[in-house]
Amino acid sequence: MKRREFLAAVPAAAFALSSDRRDSGMVLDNQDIKTNEVELSITEPGGIQIERIDLFPLCYPMTGYFKFFTGPHGSAGRAAVVVKITTSDGTTGWGQALPIAKWSYETLETAVVCLRDYFAPVLIGQNPLDIEGAHIKMDGAIAPGFSTGMPITRAGIDVALHDLKGKLLGQSLAQMWGKPAGGSITLSWTVNVLSLDEVEKVTEEGIARGYRHFNIKVAPDPVFDAALARRVRKLAPDTFLWADANGGYTPETALQAAPRLVDAGVDVLEAPLRPNRISGYQALKKQGALPILMDEGVVSPTDLIEFIRLGMCNGVAMKPARCGGLLSNRRQIEICLENDLMWLGSGLTDPDIMLAAALALYGAYGLQKAAVLNGPQFLTADVLKNPIKIENGTAAVPQGPGLGIEVDEEKVTALMKESGGRTMTIT
Ligand SMILES: [Mg+2]
Repeated sequence: MKRREFLAAVPAAAFALSSDRRDSGMVLDNQDIKTNEVELSITEPGGIQIERIDLFPLCYPMTGYFKFFTGPHGSAGRAAVVVKITTSDGTTGWGQALPIAKWSYETLETAVVCLRDYFAPVLIGQNPLDIEGAHIKMDGAIAPGFSTGMPITRAGIDVALHDLKGKLLGQSLAQMWGKPAGGSITLSWTVNVLSLDEVEKVTEEGIARGYRHFNIKVAPDPVFDAALARRVRKLAPDTFLWADANGGYTPETALQAAPRLVDAGVDVLEAPLRPNRISGYQALKKQGALPILMDEGVVSPTDLIEFIRLGMCNGVAMKPARCGGLLSNRRQIEICLENDLMWLGSGLTDPDIMLAAALALYGAYGLQKAAVLNGPQFLTADVLKNPIKIENGTAAVPQGPGLGIEVDEEKVTALMKESGGRTMTIT
């Protein structure tokens, strides 16, 4: 069944669950690990309510080879459900959910169903300023598994609520958080190749576009990976060289790979193993060849606290798109800062709306290293009136209330129609 047919065939039934369960993965419950609780003051709503949520399932067209965007459900481009939340006073907030079937179990189709039939119905009539309350409602609609339920999907709601809250308060995200706005974020160029012959071409393309920092996709073969790292390091001697295995090594090969990679000039190793290989992570951290960062599997702040307690990592590759959105991600950055862990900025090949959210977050928290926000490298369309400025491998942090961007609804609708999707409205 093609996506167009699937979207048309999904039944329109909407059943909102009401629940007071407060088993949110967002709630911190630790005693040993230092956490700096983010202030959750809720400004008086003045009677404003969430009145309507519109969903626009679509695909951003792409260029270049990237392993996650291949096959029947990936080659159409970067799937997204654009979320527009409208309040009773007519204010709108925009977000997007960014499923990738080859990266996690959330797909464009399941994201649409979860948003339309589970998350959106429980938010209608709610106070748009109470973002934590919205997460508790969503926890009641879809129960957690090991961690927060459908985190990539719910990030679309979370980001739209942050945009909305900022607009209602007349503040940027950084202002809402009491942080300085970052001016710009340095970006890292992704080198994902199937053959070593391609390394030079892909790396040179980044250099030609002004990028100075590179990240490489590694695993499962440590010999290939070390050769890849060596070539990139040679072409870009000053790079912060970040290797991401996406959980692709076995515990044995990861222990062989880490010393080889450090010899080849790699600075950090991300996601060497699937997150359930707890003893494998512990062994790699103990080996100490490279700083070990986690990505896949770190969803709620509670997960991160547990992984720190278990001695599994030296840091985290942050992604608001992965972990349920900005509320969860801010807490995770705070946890890393309080516990002297490394935090790096990453994304899920974020298109414009999520990119604006990630840039605001990383800018506000003063990200030090080049961010793997590779949407601008791979995506060839946008839905903004004024696209985010990317120059010489640097992205400007959008300024202004909320996300600081203006979404062009006509562009959204056009891209959705090209992708074979249709608008869904929940009131
Ligand atoms: Mg990663």
